[in-house]
Amino acid sequence: MRIEQTKRIVIKVGSALLFDHDTGTLNKEWLHSLAEDVKFLRENNKEVIIVSSGAIAMGAKDLNLEMQNLKMDFNQAVSAVGQIHLMASFKNAFEQNELKISQILLTLDDTEQRRRSINARRTIDTLLNLGIVPIVNENDTIATNEIRYGDNDRLASRVAQITSSDCLILLSNINGLYSSDPNTGDDGKLIPTVTEISEDIEKMIGDSVSEFGKGGMRTKIQAAKTAMLSGCHLAITNGSIQRPIKSLFDGRPCTWFEPSKTPMAARKQWIAGTMKPVGQIVIDDGAVNALKNGSSLLPAGVKSIDGDFERGDVVEVYSLGNLKIGVGLSSYSAKEGKSIMGHKSDEIGKILSYSYREEMIHKDDLVLL
Ligand code: GLU
Repeated sequence: MRIEQTKRIVIKVGSALLFDHDTGTLNKEWLHSLAEDVKFLRENNKEVIIVSSGAIAMGAKDLNLEMQNLKMDFNQAVSAVGQIHLMASFKNAFEQNELKISQILLTLDDTEQRRRSINARRTIDTLLNLGIVPIVNENDTIATNEIRYGDNDRLASRVAQITSSDCLILLSNINGLYSSDPNTGDDGKLIPTVTEISEDIEKMIGDSVSEFGKGGMRTKIQAAKTAMLSGCHLAITNGSIQRPIKSLFDGRPCTWFEPSKTPMAARKQWIAGTMKPVGQIVIDDGAVNALKNGSSLLPAGVKSIDGDFERGDVVEVYSLGNLKIGVGLSSYSAKEGKSIMGHKSDEIGKILSYSYREEMIHKDDLVLL
């Protein structure tokens, strides 16, 4: 993959790079070099969106609190303090490179609801047209444990998907994906290109408790899945050097995840990128075959329904053997679905005394996995 060929790039900056973890101080020199990189990208006609962590780390430092073990209400308050410091640091470094910045704070709900996600995209588009760099973070001040991203890897992949970006760079403190954990002394090799998240790759990241295998790599692989389904190239690369993006341009080794050659329509990309489906529908074998042949899911093929979802929510579809078949937008709520499942579509009107449509999930709203 050549980064030169991309047009819209999302760069995810982890707090491990922004801070010196021993002293808890901001790595100003590094942030300055990132600003130089963004300027360089803009001079090469790239649009740049940044997703940055650091609100909680900066807030904790300012308030003299230990970042670990903060209770949720403290986390929310601390991030409210830290986000200002984070943006002030970006503003300072970027202005020195004649770059204007803006702040976008997103919750999981903002990206999981189609209309809100389109609004977020419009704002980001306008900022980019004005030549302003959007800097995105999760809105930690109102995020609760149940409804939050919690990690900026997956947030960044969703931002890349919503904004139709064609490149996402996850700057972290590892060089990329290794065939085994380099920290264990195995001669793990850096994998330069991944075209499919195979079972082998899932095994490689495994459940190892080392730095390599922890959430860190798992959330990055989840981010890669979302990016690949969205026609977006994703790089995992070591950002702990000066000018990390320029060095990618110069061909520094990293792992590139390549998207599928035939990207789905934007609506389907958004459905496939859903982070938290709110329900599960189990279907019979006949319906599984029908879906695989390109048909919609009819109530007749539904065997059971779990979860509390409304019409228009994203749900997962499972076979009787508990295999995940796909995700899609349900035309009916869970309650309505339970009343009409197993019935022919022309009976819906009689059972519910209304009928939105004959499909439980229309094929245009369904993504098979
Ligand atoms: N949103 C969190 C913060 O700004 C960070 C999440 C992460 O580190 O991935 O502090």
